[in-house]
Amino acid sequence: YADSAMYKAKEEGRNNFQFYSSEMTELAFEHVAMEASLRQALQNEEFVVYYQPQMDGRTDRLVGMEALVRWNHPTLGLVQPYKFIPIAEKNGLIVQIDQWVMKSAMTQFVAWYKDGLNPGVLAMNLAVKQLQKKDFIDTMSNLLKSTQCKPEWIELEVTESQIMTNPQEAIKILKQISEMGIELAVDDFGTGYSSLSYLKRLPIDKLKIDRTFIQDLPDDEEDVGITKSVIALSKSLNLKVIAEGVETDEQKNFLVENGCQNIQGYLYSKPITANEMKERFLKNS
Ligand code: C2E
Ligand code: MG
Ligand code: MG
Ligand code: MG
Repeated sequence: YADSAMYKAKEEGRNNFQFYSSEMTELAFEHVAMEASLRQALQNEEFVVYYQPQMDGRTDRLVGMEALVRWNHPTLGLVQPYKFIPIAEKNGLIVQIDQWVMKSAMTQFVAWYKDGLNPGVLAMNLAVKQLQKKDFIDTMSNLLKSTQCKPEWIELEVTESQIMTNPQEAIKILKQISEMGIELAVDDFGTGYSSLSYLKRLPIDKLKIDRTFIQDLPDDEEDVGITKSVIALSKSLNLKVIAEGVETDEQKNFLVENGCQNIQGYLYSKPITANEMKERFLKNS
């Protein structure tokens, strides 16, 4: 990629070189130096877990939270996941990052429960690379043991497209996770290609309606239809349902009135640090 940018830059002459050269630097950073930086970040523990509350929209009470990783880079500051997760997924470092996130969030939850607080369910994102690792179940059992976290506190989120990269294999490992007492949610539901027959065979507990269907509620007729269908589907398959990306009272009211009481989104809070979570949502929980 860098080579072709260089070639293009040379071809188009000196005037353009500056532009392509900085573009090149960026690409090089992303694909080569990024890997080294991520390794360093793991070693130096530069990652931070943020938490976004999941609320019962009828009572405005906390029911749980999603752990979302950020990279606290020594010079760049707080780096958002879209800038490094896709690269970490490609080079495989996502496995170590996710294991660090799980350990960190599980440790935090145990501390909160020990303090008599009630943080509810801990939702964590699981990259497909984890599902392909033969030792994932061992890793998970070890984490549960070493942190003293209870499996019933945990929910793992997997996207449809990640499941569908190798459904056979995914079903096997998801079943094992489920047998450990950990719940499973399908993240970004509606954006992938999972067929209903697979949905029936997956040992899942919850559907998470993607933000893209929520953002234009309740005006967009198609989104209204899709959202109602997903809620109906979850009822008939006996699954829980939660909406993500809820930003307005109107959206929340629509969802609650139509049977989806679990709400996650900026309406309640952006992802925040553990301390902010304790101050704002846990002290009187
Ligand atoms: P996701 O799992 O679907 O997480 C929800 C994303 O939507 C989060 O973005 C959250 O901040 C954002 N969000 C929540 N409510 C709202 C809202 O009301 N409005 C808007 N505009 N956005 C909202 P974030 O934290 O930037 O994470 C993006 C994605 O990166 C996540 O999507 C997930 O796929 C991935 N990710 C984040 N943390 C981890 C992690 O620890 N491990 C793995 N494997 N992936 C992660
Ligand atoms: Mg998620
Ligand atoms: Mg999602
Ligand atoms: Mg998403």
